[in-house]
Amino acid sequence: MTFSAPNPRTVLITGGNRGIGLAIAEEFVAQGHRVAVTARSGQGPEGTLTVRADVTDAASIDAAFTEVEAAYGPVEVLVANAGITRDLLLMRMTEEDFTDVVDTNLTGAFRVVKRASKGMMKARFGRIILVSSVVGLLGSAGQINYAASKSGLVGLARSVTRELGSRGITANVVAPGFIETEMTAVLPEATQAEYRKSIPAGRFATTDEVAKVIAWLASDDAAYISGAVIPVDGGLGMGH
Ligand code: NDP
Repeated sequence: MTFSAPNPRTVLITGGNRGIGLAIAEEFVAQGHRVAVTARSGQGPEGTLTVRADVTDAASIDAAFTEVEAAYGPVEVLVANAGITRDLLLMRMTEEDFTDVVDTNLTGAFRVVKRASKGMMKARFGRIILVSSVVGLLGSAGQINYAASKSGLVGLARSVTRELGSRGITANVVAPGFIETEMTAVLPEATQAEYRKSIPAGRFATTDEVAKVIAWLASDDAAYISGAVIPVDGGLGMGH
């Protein structure tokens, strides 16, 4: 396979078999990079290498990175996208509901960032992008576990920036608002209309609109952006 970007990078995206992760993988492929995705099931889009990994399991992450490194060389761009929700009001949320979501969304990101950082430090280059959510900073009734995990990513990225910033490594957070995915498609039309009213842009975003921002953050042009929270939310969370 030939890779056509002026500066092709090895990119790894967690959860690249569907939704936003799939769109991110497609965008990096379109820009000519070497793209690998992790998936627990299914496959990444055409032109990607799919490796099996569960972000709650450090050994499976290590094996996935080793497979990617053998095929494409050390990971230079990491997009921690894998995430879950388990929405319940506080009174009904069990400790397990809380810790399971944090284990995937926050500790899962920690695990992949830690594994990727070794190669990035050696190369003195790295781009780490963590997919958070507008609710991480806005809060959301019924999503205490999810919002806590997503705001935790901000502290993670900013601390990585302080630890590794002098080695050519950037770490940023992208905070999407409502995106047209399976998750939002199942919402009743009336609920969707209600949400749209609260978004200054008056519409949901396409997965592509998130993917392009992430690809740009990984580019050489974004070398001096680190520890930032970039909203892709049509103005919903203004003031972050
Ligand atoms: P989807 O539910 O469509 O996809 C989630 C992805 O995460 C899947 O690829 C899934 O893999 C993977 N995943 C979940 N758990 C694990 C795990 N333990 N190990 C490895 N992979 C796992 O979600 P979206 O595309 O909608 O969301 C992607 C990211 O964007 C998430 O972090 C989400 O929180 C965030 N986000 C989404 C918004 C939206 O409106 N959709 C808004 C704001 C943020 P598998 O298929 O194998 O389960």
